[in-house]
Amino acid sequence: MRERDAEGKPVPDWLADAFAVGRRFREVGAKINVLEAEVKTLQANYFEVDFRVEECVRALRKARNILLEDAPYERCECLGKVPGCHICLGRQWISASRYRRPSHLRPRG
Ligand SMILES: [Zn+2]
Repeated sequence: MRERDAEGKPVPDWLADAFAVGRRFREVGAKINVLEAEVKTLQANYFEVDFRVEECVRALRKARNILLEDAPYERCECLGKVPGCHICLGRQWISASRYRRPSHLRPRG
């Protein structure tokens, strides 16, 4: 399978491993969605048990968000042509959280 970035553009071969990792992060995030549903089912089925369901759900959502925010998301605009790029730190990809920072728009060494 050819790996793609967040915009659906195929990534170059040398970035395929990084974006495969990003895909795995999203798969684990999807599993956390399943866990959240199971926790809510526990609450519904065992309502007599006083457990902190909302806190549990918040923790799961936080974990999922960390995975989605920190996974490889987009190719850096430096395209590997800016040695010491301060945006991607030489990885040639950036995470979703880094992508949203305004500073990502201007790669420079
Ligand atoms: Zn870069």
